[in-house]
Amino acid sequence: MAAIIMDGKKTAAYVRQKVKEKCLLLKKEKGIVLGLAVILVGDDNASQIYVRNKAKACEEVGINSKQYTLPANTGQEELLKLIDTLNKDDKINGILVQLPLPKHIDEKEVIKAIDPKKDVDAFSNENIGRMFCGDMICSPCTPSGILEMLDYYKIDVRGKHCVVIGRSAIVGKPMAMMLLNRDATVTVCHSKTKDLPHICRQADILVVAVGKPKMITCEYVKPGAVVVDVGINRDENGKLCGDVDFESVKETASYISPVPGGVGPMTIAMLLNNVCNTVN
Ligand code: NAD
Repeated sequence: MAAIIMDGKKTAAYVRQKVKEKCLLLKKEKGIVLGLAVILVGDDNASQIYVRNKAKACEEVGINSKQYTLPANTGQEELLKLIDTLNKDDKINGILVQLPLPKHIDEKEVIKAIDPKKDVDAFSNENIGRMFCGDMICSPCTPSGILEMLDYYKIDVRGKHCVVIGRSAIVGKPMAMMLLNRDATVTVCHSKTKDLPHICRQADILVVAVGKPKMITCEYVKPGAVVVDVGINRDENGKLCGDVDFESVKETASYISPVPGGVGPMTIAMLLNNVCNTVN
């Protein structure tokens, strides 16, 4: 039987609606209009699109978004000064610095400068530590979007064997920790893992965040497993595709998230949710 497709657009719309309602309530009861500052340094095309999409998503739910576009040659000190000003600004609840930054700027220093209470990407050491303790205010947007999507489809991770492929700081590692926090049994695989197909075939839930087009075929998937595809790649024809070979896996899995229209839309929705969480 073909897998049920986990519709990220529908799930993200559901999350955005909940955020919108929270924003309305905050305005009505406390007179608060949430504000998100988005800082873009340089003129990277993809980053400009991401920033524009984030601003649009904010507007739709009633979050005030303020964009700061700085030239590529902006010095680190100047960027840190702007972050300091935004840290002190009561009208700004969340600060997001679009990554990657130009090479002359130390990303770690920049992330460290953001007030952890306003760190809506949850990249700061404090928020990573909180995740470790299962005491999050904001959680990294992509993995929390994946959990939200699993919840939406009533897929319980408790006691399940979850295999995460990829150990990046923004997807793989936090995903593993968040699954563990929900009582899953977690295995993390990466580029040095031996016999990846064998390990993946033991997964009840397989989360793939590798960045290699259509790498995961049905040989990696246990019949009936849930497959979450985080990858965003271009195939040989320039068409958007995931890390999972959708056509090959959809007959084996019980649930599968497509690319596009799967995890991607969830990431922005969870960013909006994080902005809301800063005032709770
Ligand atoms: P990354 O490059 O930082 O990490 C890739 C990981 O894959 C590494 O940990 C590496 O060890 C592992 N890996 C590489 N080759 C492997 C192999 N042959 N076998 C097993 N593991 C291997 O990437 P990332 O930032 O985690 O992103 C992964 C993918 O997810 C990319 O396609 C990226 O564009 C996409 N992404 C999507 C979203 C979203 O919102 N949908 C968000 C972030 C990243």
